[in-house]
Amino acid sequence: MSKVLVIGAGGVGSVAVHKMAQNRDIFSDITLASRTLSKCDAIARSVQERTGVTITTRQIDADDVEATTALLREVKPRLVVNLALPYQDLAIMDACLAAGVDYMDTANYEPREEARFEYKWQWDYHERFKQAGLTALLGSGFDPGVTSVFAMWLKKHRLKTIRLLDILDCNGGDHGQPFATNFNPEINIREVTAPARHWEDGQFVETPAMAVKQRFDFAEVGEKTMYMMYHEELESLARHVPELERARFWMTFGDEYIKHLTVLQNVGMTRIDPVLYEGKEIIPLQFLKAVLPEPSSLGATTKGKTNIGDIATGETLDGSGEKTFYIRNICDHEKAYEETGNQAVSYTTGVPAMIGAAMLLTGTWDGDGVFNMEEFDPDPFMDMLNTQGLPWEVLELPAPLSF
Ligand code: NDP
Repeated sequence: MSKVLVIGAGGVGSVAVHKMAQNRDIFSDITLASRTLSKCDAIARSVQERTGVTITTRQIDADDVEATTALLREVKPRLVVNLALPYQDLAIMDACLAAGVDYMDTANYEPREEARFEYKWQWDYHERFKQAGLTALLGSGFDPGVTSVFAMWLKKHRLKTIRLLDILDCNGGDHGQPFATNFNPEINIREVTAPARHWEDGQFVETPAMAVKQRFDFAEVGEKTMYMMYHEELESLARHVPELERARFWMTFGDEYIKHLTVLQNVGMTRIDPVLYEGKEIIPLQFLKAVLPEPSSLGATTKGKTNIGDIATGETLDGSGEKTFYIRNICDHEKAYEETGNQAVSYTTGVPAMIGAAMLLTGTWDGDGVFNMEEFDPDPFMDMLNTQGLPWEVLELPAPLSF
């Protein structure tokens, strides 16, 4: 019997519980809790219709550590899968420590008042989880998540060392809207408007947001413009793959997205500091979120594919000199929607969240303390990607990236 409590009833939470319900041998008892109970109930109905499995739903404000601790003591899960927002990470980790429950998430903690992406806050919990004999697994989505597991699989099976690493995240999906984000708009825009940072020669190098771009031909999607940005797995990869000379993260954005974002930024709508409006303090970015389409509403109309992967160059394990490998997954928006009622951006995050949870609940990945994805054996995770809807492929490239 493995009881799991999922917190967060957005697109990612929805995919994760659908996939858990498909894997009843591992997830025998599923509770979904979130701020808005009706969203949990709607997901529970879909899970029932699609899989025949009944899940329990609860209301919780996960910012409230005491209330969350009480919920954990009552539900008594073995694991909490945090699929709410990055703001809740530390509060939920505190509740897990108080109630003696293992923890997992898909995004690193971020304070509301500052778009600062750092694992430090969560790494600082290591001793407390260790002392309590509990496990916390950080960042088990696609990126972060699978992208780190991809790198470690290459290090185990192809490359002795990784000298150069590029993570390429392409969303070739078209939702038919002039401007919308594929996951939580507030989190997405904070990430995209933050300065870019990449790892080079032992330190992070900062460049202005969206200033460095390249064209790249993505398989099954076509040629796209991708922008260099900061992404949190660069920090954990730099720690766990110390020989890295350079690591960069790229994400594709269409011209329409960039045009709208530039205007919104120029007029101050992406600000995250409070502004006084008719006697009330509002945060422009939160107001913007309220008027943008809900990412979950885009699933029905989104067509096309995502293509996310790692390109790594280094000395081969078999001593045949330096080589470059490209390891990637391609996911179809319409197929993801048909299976779970959510588009591929939620699907590519929710499936690895379920797999990370499976690794912990089956004891395949085990340890006392706070861990990143790079610290465990990539093979069982990679096997489940193949069987759970995110098959991957690896190919050798003739040369490292030319840029
Ligand atoms: P959504 O905004 O769609 O869903 C977030 C959910 O969390 C909502 O149901 C929301 O409730 C709930 N929530 C927010 N605050 C609280 C709170 N205080 N207490 C309880 N519930 C709360 O986001 P997504 O599903 O798109 O993303 C979920 C997480 O996944 C995010 O942390 C995101 O950063 C991460 N992510 C990770 C990726 C990866 O590859 N690693 C990729 C994409 C996302 P309500 O509906 O009431 O607002």
